[in-house]
Amino acid sequence: MEDVMRITPLGSGQEVGRSCHLLQFRDMTIMLDIGIHPGYEGINGLPFLDQVEPDQIDVLLVTHFHLDHAASLPYLTERTTFKGRIFMTHPTKAVTRLLLGDYLRLLQMRNSKTEDVLYTEADLQACMDKVELIDYHTTVTVGGLSFHALNAGHVLGACMYFLDIGGRSLLYTGDYSMEDDRHLMAAELPGRKPDVLMCESTYGVQVHASRAEREARFTGTVERVVSRGGRCLIPVFALGRAQELLLILDEYWQANPQLQNIPIWYASKLASRALRVYQTYANMMNARIRQQMDVSNPFSFKFIQNLKSIDVNNFSDSGPSVVFASPGMLQSGVSRQLFDRWASDPKNGVLIAGYAVEHTLAKEIMNQPKEVVTLEGRRQPLNCLVDYVSFSAHVDFVQNRSFITQVDPKHIILVHGQKDEMGRLKSALLLQYRKLPENKRPTITMPPNLQTVSLKFARRRSAKVMGSLAMTGSDPPEGEEVQGVLVTHNFTTKIVKPNDLALYTPLRTGSISSKLHVPFAGSIETLRLFITEMFAGVSEDKVEQDGKLCTRFSLHQNKVMLLLGKSDGVAIVEWEASPAGDVIADALIALIMHAQSSPASIRLTSKPCRHPRAGKDEKGDAPSRKKSRTNHETLSENRLRMIKDTLLDQFNNVEAVYEGNMATYEIKTDTGLDSDVVHEEEPLTCTAKVRFEDSNGGAAEISVECVDKKLASNVQECLRNFARSLAPLQT
Ligand SMILES: [Zn+2]
Ligand SMILES: [Zn+2]
Repeated sequence: MEDVMRITPLGSGQEVGRSCHLLQFRDMTIMLDIGIHPGYEGINGLPFLDQVEPDQIDVLLVTHFHLDHAASLPYLTERTTFKGRIFMTHPTKAVTRLLLGDYLRLLQMRNSKTEDVLYTEADLQACMDKVELIDYHTTVTVGGLSFHALNAGHVLGACMYFLDIGGRSLLYTGDYSMEDDRHLMAAELPGRKPDVLMCESTYGVQVHASRAEREARFTGTVERVVSRGGRCLIPVFALGRAQELLLILDEYWQANPQLQNIPIWYASKLASRALRVYQTYANMMNARIRQQMDVSNPFSFKFIQNLKSIDVNNFSDSGPSVVFASPGMLQSGVSRQLFDRWASDPKNGVLIAGYAVEHTLAKEIMNQPKEVVTLEGRRQPLNCLVDYVSFSAHVDFVQNRSFITQVDPKHIILVHGQKDEMGRLKSALLLQYRKLPENKRPTITMPPNLQTVSLKFARRRSAKVMGSLAMTGSDPPEGEEVQGVLVTHNFTTKIVKPNDLALYTPLRTGSISSKLHVPFAGSIETLRLFITEMFAGVSEDKVEQDGKLCTRFSLHQNKVMLLLGKSDGVAIVEWEASPAGDVIADALIALIMHAQSSPASIRLTSKPCRHPRAGKDEKGDAPSRKKSRTNHETLSENRLRMIKDTLLDQFNNVEAVYEGNMATYEIKTDTGLDSDVVHEEEPLTCTAKVRFEDSNGGAAEISVECVDKKLASNVQECLRNFARSLAPLQT
């Protein structure tokens, strides 16, 4: 049997932006990330949510706070039928709340069309209340899914998710970085191999310059611009890489006193609140920052001032300055206003420090166009310096390849990258895997949005033997059979003893005790005869209940009990409900009612039926029959006499000798079956012996002797069937 895992990008399939993937496996639907595309307006920036049934999603896992991974969250929770559980790390939740509030104000400021405002402040608050928090490395279980978060580097709180579901596993990297930088540690490798790796491919086969080189270029460009009296604009995401760049620049100013009179502004309303968040979660950052925190606060910068007022028109920019402003892609807001104001002056500079998303102004100016269009729609020349240094904290090709090789999955799915970059990465990986034998090579796919990748897995059919069943003290021999209850829960199967169910499964065992009062006014002797004749293994004892001496019969390993004498005229039947117990109790109750309603039956049962052809035998036996009625003939004795009657039915001449549980029958007949052994005038004699094992007429031992073998075997068969049909029920 095969299980099919379906993975469908609803966004960031062959693109960067609106990360959102649907994972369907073994009746569970999991969504990974829920971003917006910063290059598109309003509803067009959403992932393709109209292609799914939001109410079918069980769990949503958000990797980090960047808008392209988290910004559609309030839309999903408040404007669709989504009702699943949502998880993210503590810092991701804290920063997402801040960022989305800011993003919302930006949308409202700019918009114009109300349908492009995807959610309100109230929606955002309601949405954040639904978010559940997870810690790194702590396994969370939801139905058949269990998952844990691993450090992804990238930005504060960013994580990868390692998912286990139905015996298969998947690692989703989100965005990740492999460099230990000023404030974050590098991503970590999972502890074991996943079946599937969903991996970002932002930089394709590009290789980053060394960190020192990039830092030198960054600080060098900033210094060049401000030294010639220009203003340097650094558009940044409100949070995330900005912190890293601020740390770099503050350090550089510290080391270069000649720059210290040039102001660095961090134009963000969020800045101070954001820094508070960062300080709160400093313990999640790398050891270096944690050590510094012990000495002084690395986030209380010496040379960077927070520009709280975003009123760009009143902002005095007479001399050289450095301004960090959001948004990072220059779509609108403060960074765009400053850009519009500064772009035509060749003294000024714009430094793009992160990954520039397609369809945004940041991406557009990297191609050095002669003219740009302002937010008001005016055309103006682009004369200022435009430079690009990557601090975007995504892995480059070398790091990505090394990570993928170490993770060693069976299937690789590339997401979060432009189609061309992704294609080059895929080819490079395929080339590398050519060295492996064909059956060892992982599959590599790069699905566009809405194209489902179906991965087939053989269903693992195994069950764990647990509890006392497993405590054999040694390895079980091959082929040994195991008996227990098979329980399948959350895609795992166990075999346990019924007694262990409560310990090893969510099932609880219970027993139902039934008690029935049956009217009974007959004698105990009568009932005893009925019961012992019907059932084998009946034990009888006396117990005291409520000051009365009662008679108790126990059947079916004491699981069915009959109590007589507790209250007058009532027999109490108690039993533990089970298929066998119910049947036995039923039969017992019928028997009690029978014994009660027809007292005549007892006489009939204890007296063998009279046979009209019995002749003189009947007279001979008469005294003993009479005796049996008065002296409680045992069941075995009774049956031995019934056997004689049966034999008399067939052979006119039968003599019987009784000795306790045993009888010898001498049968005389003139009709032999094997014709050659019959002599005329000389009747054939057949001797049969029957012995019951006890006085209750249990199993019978039968032997028959006769020269006519056919007759002997017929008599033997007849007696055996007779004894068997009279035997009491084994309970
Ligand atoms: Zn990111
Ligand atoms: Zn991203």
